[in-house]
Amino acid sequence: MITTANNILNTVWENRYFPVDPIWIAKKMGLSVYSLETPPDVSGALVKRADRDPVILLNQNDSEQRMRFTCAHELGHYIQRLESNIENSKEYEYVDLFSKLSQENQNEEEKLANKFALALLIPKEALLHDVKENCSPAMMAYRFGVPDDVIRVALEEYGIHGYGR
Ligand SMILES: [Zn+2]
Repeated sequence: MITTANNILNTVWENRYFPVDPIWIAKKMGLSVYSLETPPDVSGALVKRADRDPVILLNQNDSEQRMRFTCAHELGHYIQRLESNIENSKEYEYVDLFSKLSQENQNEEEKLANKFALALLIPKEALLHDVKENCSPAMMAYRFGVPDDVIRVALEEYGIHGYGR
């Protein structure tokens, strides 16, 4: 999944710049992305109906930064489906609650989708570069276009503990 995220950055995004735009990437990969009114605790969903292309839905009341992370997470679910040999023409649906995206005790699919989202939006090398430059977590959040809490998760994920505290 991490390799796939890196490949997408190289080949689809062509290493343009930060922040990475996962909505643009998802569309480029043939998915439709809509922001719309959802129940307040729902951040996003990946929905596939029979004989239709999969669709990513985002909560329109979330911040642009939050939507960016949610979209990358849903794209992660889509990539998992592609990479596994599950019958992909069938219907499926992932609905992600805001609380589920941030909590530790998730199932393997959710963890993988989060790892993918981090690798796509905040590549390890780029974050380590910022750490070396002593950037504040708030500056990193601005550069990568994600909420502050996502930067904290990324730092932990990449083994940088207690940074900026
Ligand atoms: Zn999910």
